[in-house]
Order: sequence, then structure tokens, then C-alpha cells
Amino acid sequence: MVKLAIFAGHGGRDPGAVSGSRLEKTYTLELMDLVSQRLRLAGVSIINNRTGDTESSVNDKSALANRMRADGVVDIHLNAGGGTGTETYCSVSGGRSRSMAEKINANLAALGYRNRGVKTKLTAMGTDYFGIIRMPTAPAVLVEVCFLDNNSDMGMYNANQAADAIAKALIDEFKPIVQTDPPPAAEQTRPSPAPAEQTQTSPAPLQNPIDFKVGARVTVKTTAERFTTGQRIASFVKGAVYFIRQVRPESVLISPKTTGAYTGWLNKSDVVLNG
Ligand SMILES: [Zn+2]
Repeated sequence: MVKLAIFAGHGGRDPGAVSGSRLEKTYTLELMDLVSQRLRLAGVSIINNRTGDTESSVNDKSALANRMRADGVVDIHLNAGGGTGTETYCSVSGGRSRSMAEKINANLAALGYRNRGVKTKLTAMGTDYFGIIRMPTAPAVLVEVCFLDNNSDMGMYNANQAADAIAKALIDEFKPIVQTDPPPAAEQTRPSPAPAEQTQTSPAPLQNPIDFKVGARVTVKTTAERFTTGQRIASFVKGAVYFIRQVRPESVLISPKTTGAYTGWLNKSDVVLNG
């Protein structure tokens, strides 16, 4: 199952942007809830940073996303400062951060906001300026839906529409992930290999099959193309670390976690044991 961190910007003593009676922290909380509802219905596992008007630092949010092993991070904001339109920030490293940002930004712009585009903001060192983009292990974006202090933007603002735009973009981005059911019981049981000491009479092979055991961590090779079931392997799976959940002579069933949904069966030659 895909796990996404959907975070509401600001909260508690930090209202974010303020314009008249409008507080950014209130809008971001509502949007976070609406986006999360939609994603849950689509089968996505959701991590939120707050459930009410509470403080939530960028350090806490990043640590939460990392601890929960999120597959992606979306930090929701509304803009201020005299402009108009929608913009989304992604990482200078590009990749899935950029592709998430492009999909979200396109969907929000389609609602009628001026399209300010996908942007990066860097420090003098050339690293990502926003901690929520820089610190999580998973690809992350920061969405500025529209300008809280612009009456034209807020005149067309509709939380449900904005949530649809963001949620659909994320479903579109993450839908290639493959979920397969566990194989029939008969295929799950095979004799466990003999202890290594008894069988290693010849030099150890490059990848000892004994090491492919349930619970071991593997990295999917970037050259891997397809699951054994034929589905194309999504780009974000490549290079990522997974747990072996089941082992067959030539293949392993992998998952981002030690429990819950499976990602799919891969040939052993398409993964590297992390040891
Ligand atoms: Zn903000």
C-alpha cells in the first residue's frame, strides 16, 4: 500500500498567513483532511501531522514522515504577500518530487488560478530551502494552493475542488505501484535451506540464496523492469529499500513494511541484499 504524508502547514501559535479573518492554518487543516479522505478511499495509507489547531514544526513533520516510512510528502499551504495564483515547490534533485509537483500544480491551475508554475527555492549552498522538502527521506513537495490575501483567488477558492485536484494528482502519480495478493498456501511453504555452515563447501556465490530470507532488506535494482507477474515496476520502487515477505527459488515477494500490503514478486536478480 502506498503511504503518503499529507501535512497541514502551520498551526497553534503559528497562524501562517493572516488576511482579515482568514488564517492560513485553518485552511490548511481543512484541505489536509479533505485530501486525506479522498486518498484513503483510493486505498492510500495516510500520515497527518495534526488533527486540530496544534503546533507542528518542520522538524517534527520530517521526523514523522521518516519514522513512518512515507512514500511521499505533501505539505499544504496558502500563499500571501500580494501575488495571485498557484505554485508548487519541489526538490532541486527533481525525480518524484518534481513529477508530484507538476501533477499537483497542473490540476490546481486547471481550477482557474493563475499558473505560477513548479518552482525550486535554494539556499546559498544550493540545497533545498524548505526543510519539509530537504529533510524527509521520501520525495516531498510544498503546495501553495492560492493567495489567501487575494480576493480574486479566494473568490474562486473551493476546498473540495482544491482537495480533488491534489488527491487526483497523487493518485495519478502513485497508481503504478503493484499490489498482489499473497500466493496460494501451497506455494508459500518450501523446505527451509540447511544452515550455511553445512552447505558452503564451495566458494560462496555472488549472492547466496540462503540470504534471501523473510524479513531481510533488499534494494530494488534501478535496471529492474517488471515484476514476475508482468507489471512494469514504477520508477520510485527502483533504488528503494523493501522487506522480503516471502521467498521462492527464483523470486522474492517484497513490501515496504514487514506487515500489511505487498508490493509484488521480483526476480532475485532484480534486487540486491542489503545485508
Ligand atoms: Zn504557509
